[in-house]
Amino acid sequence: MTRFIVVGAGLIGSSIAYRLAERGHPVTIVECDYPGAGTSGASFAWTNSNEKTPYSYHLINALGMRAHRELENEFGACPWFHGGGAVEWRADANEAQELAERVQRLTGWNYAAEWIPADRLHRLEPALARGASGDAKIAYFPDEGWVDPGVYIEFFLGKARTLGAELCRETVIGIELRADRVTGVRTASGTTLGADVVVNCTGCWANDLGQDVRLTFPLAPTTGLLVVSAPAAPGIRRVIRTSGVNLRPDGAGRIMLHSEQDEKRFTPDSSREETMPVAAAMVERAARLCPDLAGVRPEAMRLSRRAIPGDGVSAVGPVPGISGYYAAVTHSGATLAPWLGQVVAAELGGSAREPALQDFRPARFF
Ligand SMILES: Cc1cc2nc3c(=O)[nH]c(=O)nc-3n(C[C@H](O)[C@H](O)[C@H](O)COP(=O)(O)OP(=O)(O)OC[C@H]3O[C@@H](n4cnc5c(N)ncnc54)[C@H](O)[C@@H]3O)c2cc1C
Repeated sequence: MTRFIVVGAGLIGSSIAYRLAERGHPVTIVECDYPGAGTSGASFAWTNSNEKTPYSYHLINALGMRAHRELENEFGACPWFHGGGAVEWRADANEAQELAERVQRLTGWNYAAEWIPADRLHRLEPALARGASGDAKIAYFPDEGWVDPGVYIEFFLGKARTLGAELCRETVIGIELRADRVTGVRTASGTTLGADVVVNCTGCWANDLGQDVRLTFPLAPTTGLLVVSAPAAPGIRRVIRTSGVNLRPDGAGRIMLHSEQDEKRFTPDSSREETMPVAAAMVERAARLCPDLAGVRPEAMRLSRRAIPGDGVSAVGPVPGISGYYAAVTHSGATLAPWLGQVVAAELGGSAREPALQDFRPARFF
């Protein structure tokens, strides 16, 4: 049986490792920190194919959403997954126009998207202030949801380990090459781990494994800022997206908040002093929509880097001219993880190449 090393125990690595182990392969997962320590542990983790273009990218995200639903048939309870859809309205005129065009595009692609009246919004989200959406049209995307990345990763890593996969807490500092074939990885402790195939699931660190330049491709990571409220139990039930702030439940009475505008001014090294006032302002904006958030403290802020290949879409597959190496690097990984786990393990196990991944091969960069 082909022996695999999966580098990185985030949403993507844990999914692929489990599906490889399920197929009977010996798998070693090498993780330099704790599982979920990377981008996955600092993700809004909204499962959607809402703003994804072109169509081929929309399609793989829609397949990711379906794969999340299918996990329920496979495992019964999926405590990491929270359905219920997402609601969105835009006070800003340009943003409202973009939303209208998006709803039209998505319905044309057979994606569940509809306009709902304000009283339906208030039945879906009774914790919102009356009139929270003002005069804006309200879109509802009933098939969307969100995941708890930590719960997902714990489950899939646990399943992989039950099937014999090993988790090795080491930092990869080199990828072993013999002629044009990868033969394993070198770690910071001086160990060399051998494998027939190395699967790089290190997200935004994918080029930082001390590897030959032929195993790299362009990345364009951006900084993400998420704010988690104190456990104020404000009763928000699903993903809510607006011009000023996006929010969703985060478990145990907490709310997760995100604002694309705010995060642009930060780097992963920004200090708590810099981010805290922005976090507090974000909660205040959310409190205008949801009065129970008034006076609630931001409890945590998470700065991270998005794993984005240079042209903005996924990079999943081998690189040209070198065997024994496969990369799976993508934004939207919370949505894509269960589907990628299945199709990547199938390809690596010798099945035909997945047609839906055709536009997303790293080879396009070479
Ligand atoms: C603010 C923000 C919001 C987001 N919102 C969404 C969303 O709403 N919906 C969605 O679908 N996606 C979203 N994403 C994207 C999604 O979170 C990522 O695509 C996903 O988490 C990537 O997972 P990963 O497993 O590839 O990477 P990671 O989770 O980063 O895992 C990589 C792992 O590799 C390990 N590693 C790195 N270097 C080494 C090394 N040398 N040796 C060993 N191990 C190493 C790291 O410690 C890490 O654990 C968001 C991301 C951000 C930042």
